[in-house]
Amino acid sequence: MTSRRKFLQLGTFASLAPITKLFGGNPIAATTKPVVISTWNFGLNANVEAWKILSTGGRALDAVEAGARVPEGDPKETSVGLGGLPDREGRVTLDSCIMDEFANCGAVACLEHIVHPVSVARKVMENTPHVFLVGDGALQFALSQGFKKEKLLTKESEKAWKEWLKTSHYKPVANIENHDTIGIVALDNSQNLSGACTTSGMAYKMRGRVGDSPIIGAALFVDNEIGAATSTGVGEEVIRIVGSHLVVELMRQGNTPQQACEKAVQRIVKNQPVKSKEIQVGFLALNKNGEYGAYALQKGFSYAVHTQDQGNKLFEAKSYY
Ligand code: ASP
Repeated sequence: MTSRRKFLQLGTFASLAPITKLFGGNPIAATTKPVVISTWNFGLNANVEAWKILSTGGRALDAVEAGARVPEGDPKETSVGLGGLPDREGRVTLDSCIMDEFANCGAVACLEHIVHPVSVARKVMENTPHVFLVGDGALQFALSQGFKKEKLLTKESEKAWKEWLKTSHYKPVANIENHDTIGIVALDNSQNLSGACTTSGMAYKMRGRVGDSPIIGAALFVDNEIGAATSTGVGEEVIRIVGSHLVVELMRQGNTPQQACEKAVQRIVKNQPVKSKEIQVGFLALNKNGEYGAYALQKGFSYAVHTQDQGNKLFEAKSYY
């Protein structure tokens, strides 16, 4: 199992980036469009794929789907898609959602055997009258759309699960790979926003557990007038505050993306003053002007930003603790 921290190639901190200007005491990274931002260090590779679409005038929706598919298809990433750590019964169950500039959205949860749940979520959005399909129904739908049934549990993840079974102690640890999600949001050349989010969820979760990642409003929200937000970390705490919707609404009230992420994290601390010290939750936000922000409960939340000016860089978000 690789350690995210080991591979963290930090770029400059967002607040120190050359294009940063101070506004109301808070950093705003002013960017030009297009821009794509995504969670954790696997965001760098995801951004590369997204950028191929954005830089040639493509749609943000296509870019975020292409980006999210990168860690989904990588068996070495043990928190997303193929090779994801399983639930406590040894089943890899995937959660994902996608949302476009027209408030169209699609989601799947507890989906097994399909490598690219984000693309199934997109098919739910485009080819059904519904928003959200779960479990066997989601699998049945995926197969009907031509997706192939595959084994997602790799030898390495199976080994890690069998090791976990020896103690069966369930405790999410901040910034190590028993959780992590790719959340990716983008602004395209036509100034439209879209986002996607995809994960295998918390390792060794109870069978049937669904986190924030496939829930529109929790781990992803896009309002094309205002901005887009996404989250990672212990999903239960994000659901309790409907985190990404909260971040977008805070931007609507005039907060910068950075301020909005900070206020959402503060809300979690207020709800859970004790628990919040031990868990990780991180938010990313991007507004209609291409300004972005990020904030987390704990240190160690990295995110990747790709713009024309800066190229593709990894930053470490500021944190509450
Ligand atoms: N948010 C994901 C979940 O709760 C996990 C993570 O991002 O670390 O399933």
